[in-house]
Amino acid sequence: MENAPEINKENINRFLCPNCGANMVFDPKKGKLACPYCAHSQEIVSDGTVDERDYNEFIRRGMQNLQPMAQNAMQSRCDSCGAIVNFTPPETSTVCDFCGAKIVAQPKAADPLVAPEGVLPFSITPPQAVSNYEKWLSSLWFAPSALKNMAQADKLSSVYIPYWTYDAYTQSYYTGERGEYYYETETYWENGEQKEREVRKTSWYPVSGNVWRQFDDVCIPATASLPEKYLNKLEPWDLQSLKPYEPAYLSGHKAQTYQIALDAGFEKFKKIAENVIYGDARSDIGGDEQRVNNVSTDYSNVTFKHLLLPIYAGAYRFNDKVFQIVVNGRTGEVQGERPFSWLKIGCLVFVILGFILFLIMLIALVKK
Ligand SMILES: [Zn+2]
Ligand SMILES: [Zn+2]
Repeated sequence: MENAPEINKENINRFLCPNCGANMVFDPKKGKLACPYCAHSQEIVSDGTVDERDYNEFIRRGMQNLQPMAQNAMQSRCDSCGAIVNFTPPETSTVCDFCGAKIVAQPKAADPLVAPEGVLPFSITPPQAVSNYEKWLSSLWFAPSALKNMAQADKLSSVYIPYWTYDAYTQSYYTGERGEYYYETETYWENGEQKEREVRKTSWYPVSGNVWRQFDDVCIPATASLPEKYLNKLEPWDLQSLKPYEPAYLSGHKAQTYQIALDAGFEKFKKIAENVIYGDARSDIGGDEQRVNNVSTDYSNVTFKHLLLPIYAGAYRFNDKVFQIVVNGRTGEVQGERPFSWLKIGCLVFVILGFILFLIMLIALVKK
């Protein structure tokens, strides 16, 4: 066997099999580039480390390091939902991975992006993802029967979804009130008789204080094509397995460029952080009940990473409504929207009502 050509940044546009010349793709099972036609596979050499970048410096200097995801990356846009996906030929994009609509527009060269620092490669294979998807579908109660036929291999596609992760050290000053319970004896009248009872009351004391916290790798999806609540449910991600970004990981898979900007992502991170800090303030206040009136937070040492995380995305149309499905490309966990069969629910209600009616009649008969 000849020496395999080394994969480096210069010959990334296509990964050709040194044995048979076919396009090699990233194989989630092997964790390597593999030829779909012969047994050849090779390691992806990614040198370097996944480093944090300084947030404020990046915002001040503006977006730099703008590059396409891969040298020959193409981009197609869905007219129906607006989703944009990037892919490298011979991959194509004919059906939208996010809403299932047909894509008619011609693909264009991919827009440049802030190059991702890291990628979490797919480790779940498409058959595994589909089998989990089918299991998920059949576990749904009151789902229309026709739904089962919709779980098909071609309905899920592997897409690297852009994420921002943020780190920050926070110092917060809060003001609030601590509530402490005490009991008082109350007298009351019952049936012309005077009685006593203990009543719980709360006295409130003004408090203030400081809380600190180090936030580490808070993940914010930078896509607008998938529902945030389902993406959040796919957490946690095993970010310790991150690899420095190499376009070879994207070969045979699609990817999205970020649609939520770095600073907009930071605002979303702050919302999450504020909730945590609010909880910190409450436990700092102590007592039986707490009121937090005001919190002012200083964010320092803010750093970020731009990552691509592996997701199988799918969409199906049912009664003219689009239902989206996401599968974690590392764990196989399935999350998604689902329809309800009103016919099935109606039947159950009917059966229950019938049973109640039967019981009533039975009781009436027994009493006679
Ligand atoms: Zn080959
Ligand atoms: Zn679409």
